[in-house]
Amino acid sequence: MIQFQSLARDVEIGANSYLLTLGEIRILLDAGMHPKREGENALPDLGEIDYGSIHAAILSHAHLDHSGAMPVVQRSHPDMPVFMSPATCVLTEALLHNSVNVMNHKREQTGNMDYPLFTHREIGQISKKWQARKPGRCFNLDRSGNTTCQFHEAGHVMGAVSSLICSEGRTILYSGDLHFEDQTIIKGALLPQSGVDVLILETTRGAVARAPEYTRNSEGERLASSIEQCLSQGGSVMIPLFAMGKTQEIITLLHELQMKGKIRTMPFHVGGLSIKMTGIYDRFTSKVRRNHHGMHMMRTKGLLNTPGKRGEMPALEPGNIYALSSGMMSERTMSNRLGRQFIQNPRNLVAAVGYADPESPLAKVINSSRGEKVQLDDRHDAVERNCSVENFDFSAHAPREDLVEYVETLKPEMTILVHGDQPAVDWMKQDLETRVPETEVIIATPKHEIIIG
Ligand SMILES: [Zn+2]
Ligand SMILES: [Zn+2]
Repeated sequence: MIQFQSLARDVEIGANSYLLTLGEIRILLDAGMHPKREGENALPDLGEIDYGSIHAAILSHAHLDHSGAMPVVQRSHPDMPVFMSPATCVLTEALLHNSVNVMNHKREQTGNMDYPLFTHREIGQISKKWQARKPGRCFNLDRSGNTTCQFHEAGHVMGAVSSLICSEGRTILYSGDLHFEDQTIIKGALLPQSGVDVLILETTRGAVARAPEYTRNSEGERLASSIEQCLSQGGSVMIPLFAMGKTQEIITLLHELQMKGKIRTMPFHVGGLSIKMTGIYDRFTSKVRRNHHGMHMMRTKGLLNTPGKRGEMPALEPGNIYALSSGMMSERTMSNRLGRQFIQNPRNLVAAVGYADPESPLAKVINSSRGEKVQLDDRHDAVERNCSVENFDFSAHAPREDLVEYVETLKPEMTILVHGDQPAVDWMKQDLETRVPETEVIIATPKHEIIIG
């Protein structure tokens, strides 16, 4: 019998983790850490899983909402191999070490004794059980050889894969985070077009329709003209960016726009974790399927302005472009620290290019009116938001129209919806039931064991 169960604590994008039981074999799909919950509550619900009872784990990509709890799971499953792509191995190790630093800091600041949930030393130990597998090659998930897996490129970020699992004559595809269109660096997903019985599908963008006239190119040109307008009026531009993925994509996009003469040639200010992650993207520049093959961002003359010392903040001066993490201007990050001064200047522009959680400091900036006071960090006074704010869509997730189209092509017997808030999964279920009546659509809810067959 094949069973599927979500270990997330809610229908949401948080601590993404799923358990797939294939007869005697138990496979864990991802083990994420919830970005907003604190301490042990940020982990997936691992309560009923016995010590050492999972045979293998698959990590779809490095983002912490998929990888951040893997060290905790591996602690209670010391012999469990964790399969992932070669790039994900390197990116995840760097992100987990950074996560330990963040957790240590939180323990000092808040006194939460759950932290750190794991240590730098543990990462060194558990990563010995990580097994890199390239997309396209079939490998065994257990010793008997009855359960196999093949990775397929999923777009999204470097190293992201969808996993095609075969067992007992049945095929199950776990999408992970997915994007079908080419981004500036990462090329779109290459997924199977038939022969899948059960599809486990992310639904991040299920609640919002994309404008039919949208193209990534036109969005880039819109960003370029906003940047040029701000700079020519003596302002500076801040683009809050996630250190891994979005930073590299947007800087390369801006570099393309410079080459086309759409924005002036000048280096972009980056700092902290973004520098490390950009270095890893460079290491894999010729080893993965991507655009700008062979480009080294760190070695491209005049592209980046990096601080002399680790952790050093760039100076706030007019005429600059700050491409700083974090992507939501979270407390104690560079975009937040610089942002508190930055947003007070009416000549400046904050360009939001990705998802902002409604409670995040960036969302507060986006939702404020000009002149309104905004509290970016509880430990500091609120400041007036006088700068301009504009939103741009450079999502690394497939729009819902593309997800539905894929299910229409694939026609699996069953589609299990994951990685989406309630409105997103609700829309997807309703639309799929109308458009693809051949597939049974199930929303994965916590503790619900779904019998696949
Ligand atoms: Zn992701
Ligand atoms: Zn995700």
